[in-house]
Amino acid sequence: VLRMSGVRKAFGTHQALDGVDLEVAEGEVVVVIGPSGSGKSTLVRCVHQLESIDAGSMYLDGDLIGYEEHRGRLRPLSPRGAAAQRRRVGMVFQQFNLFPHFTALRNVTEAPVRVHRRDRAETERDAIALLERVGLGDRLHHYPRQLSGGQQQRVAIARALAVRPRIMLFDEPTSALDPELVDEVLGVLRGLAADGLTMIVVTHEMAFAREVADRCVFMEAGRIVESGTPAEVFGNPRSPRLRAFLSRHT
Ligand code: ATP
Ligand code: MG
Repeated sequence: VLRMSGVRKAFGTHQALDGVDLEVAEGEVVVVIGPSGSGKSTLVRCVHQLESIDAGSMYLDGDLIGYEEHRGRLRPLSPRGAAAQRRRVGMVFQQFNLFPHFTALRNVTEAPVRVHRRDRAETERDAIALLERVGLGDRLHHYPRQLSGGQQQRVAIARALAVRPRIMLFDEPTSALDPELVDEVLGVLRGLAADGLTMIVVTHEMAFAREVADRCVFMEAGRIVESGTPAEVFGNPRSPRLRAFLSRHT
């Protein structure tokens, strides 16, 4: 589904991504761990085209992300082409950023109806099914301020799923939540993983990573330092960096 090779991204003189190679296969769950500032958010933001990359390439289902070929050369996608491509990627952030003046249901239906011009009645049926899938079938008409943080984050997940993305990116989806609300959101992620959704999850929840990841990737200073099954990464860490990180976080 996704292939990144040699991806580099600098902010000023700071190399946030320093040559990242990453492939995500259909139905695969890749969990990204690593210390603060190691480039985890930058990685997923590049896939969602919230940041442009300086070097390397990223392919989504064989299409180059952010660029198109024109007379044998690459040129940046038009804003419209970029928007169409971004819709093939769903993203959930630490902050839920729901529309405060829309109900849960309307938050989910807004993009498909407005942007995709899909039929409202059909979109609503889908949205209700999605909200039921994240356990909010009884909160359709609540406004964000009437929902807990965990419930708001689950609405944000349903909203991201509503455009039927090929891959979902989660950037620390539980770190803004009160501890008692973390499990309900991780439970939803577990369900999506079990349903075969292709996803990249950046998280500090090590027990979750161990349990749900098909592959776990450890980043440090803009590079992928180790990558393997949870058993390999957690059970047999090779680099001293990863060992030190795990001893702090587990
Ligand atoms: P955290 O665990 O704290 O979320 P992270 O691994 O997600 O960290 P990034 O947010 O990807 O790290 O940041 C990587 C580096 O790039 C950091 O040093 C950060 O300060 C820098 N950086 C990220 N975004 C910007 C920006 N828009 N402008 C300047 N520097 C940035
Ligand atoms: Mg981050």
